[in-house]
Amino acid sequence: MSSAASDTLAEHRAAFQSAYDELKAQGLKLDLTRGKPAADQLALSDALLTLPGDGEFRDAAGTDLRNYGGATGLPELREIFSDVLRVPVPQLLALGNSSLTLMHDVVSFAMLHGVPGAARPWGKEESVSFLCPVPGYDRHFSITEAMGVRMIPVPMNDDGPDIPSVKAALAADPTIKGMWAVPVYSNPTGAVYSEAVARELVALDAADDFRIFWDNAYAVHHLTDWHPEPIDVLGLAAEAGHPDRVFVFASTSKVTYSGSGVAFFGSSPENVKWLLHWQSFQSIGPDKVNHLRHVALLESPEGVAAHMRKHRALIAPKFAAVQEVFERRLAPFGVGEWTDPKGGYFVTLTVTPGVARRAIALAAEAGIAMTPAGSTHPYRDDPDDAVIRIAPTFPTIDELTAGLEGFCTALLLAESERD
Ligand code: PMP
Repeated sequence: MSSAASDTLAEHRAAFQSAYDELKAQGLKLDLTRGKPAADQLALSDALLTLPGDGEFRDAAGTDLRNYGGATGLPELREIFSDVLRVPVPQLLALGNSSLTLMHDVVSFAMLHGVPGAARPWGKEESVSFLCPVPGYDRHFSITEAMGVRMIPVPMNDDGPDIPSVKAALAADPTIKGMWAVPVYSNPTGAVYSEAVARELVALDAADDFRIFWDNAYAVHHLTDWHPEPIDVLGLAAEAGHPDRVFVFASTSKVTYSGSGVAFFGSSPENVKWLLHWQSFQSIGPDKVNHLRHVALLESPEGVAAHMRKHRALIAPKFAAVQEVFERRLAPFGVGEWTDPKGGYFVTLTVTPGVARRAIALAAEAGIAMTPAGSTHPYRDDPDDAVIRIAPTFPTIDELTAGLEGFCTALLLAESERD
């Protein structure tokens, strides 16, 4: 922050304090914590409540989907998502309702049994580490933390993880077996990986059983007319001589119903065989009736795109409101820098180091719940105490605006206390 800006902040400290006292007196109760779809977004998929409809329980080949079986998931649904995820249908599985469950299963199976190409299960190694681009997704970090995997932060740029930092970490540490990645509209910065970065990642000099967890959760979640070209990461990995390096994950959690969508796994034929093998002890087949109702609702890749345009119409104004409030309240004081994502579910606000926790605590005291400071980093430890994740989708636009106004009041006070 410029010294002119901090002079202004110090000058306004008394005004910020009284604005904050007034805010507290309002007794607000607002929650801006999680990136969930709002009820009007869920309603876009309410046809699911009656689909596939009376007497509809067969796939195109005539199989009775009410029964056990069909471990790879409904082919018609895999076809719809194959292009946008850039995974050939035979290598794309449609499975349960949650991609996080799949990620957790894949790490568990790797720990217990090892992945193809591994000398031993990860759990039999002295130590296992993952590269974690930061800021990143807290639930990814929770999975690896719960499994005892050591997490190594690497910085994120606008076009993906910082490759020199990734290379330096790999060269220094042979225990690194994996890496988290959200390639499109990354949670929480909105960064979109470039193809050049993807090429670097699949070509990295790393362990034979090093795996990139390519979580394409926001592949179709555009907020503007600009749509990134889907990256053929499996093809690039094969070209680079590491065909088994990438596990692709995705789901319809933020396309249809968050609790009752369909999760996808895509990878090399060898990795797909591996997952199906270990899953066969866990399940006699996924919920294919849910797959069928998703085919009936979404119909085609164009159907998915049309459905996502309806989401955009509902949430783009909320993202615009974040920009408007921050521009009006924070920019005049030179406080904060924030992303303006072209898709996904989050805005990242970066404040003066040492201020994030205090600002969020002040907001909480005034009845505004924000995502806890630190949650964008492994072990909830943001060493700069500077990154704040904003999740605009769930509240109504009035609640969102009131919450952000109040949060800005708390943040300005916290920033002025630093002077
Ligand atoms: N991955 C990312 C990057 C996410 O942001 C989310 C939802 N917040 C998920 C996965 C959750 O996916 P699912 O509902 O399929 O478990």
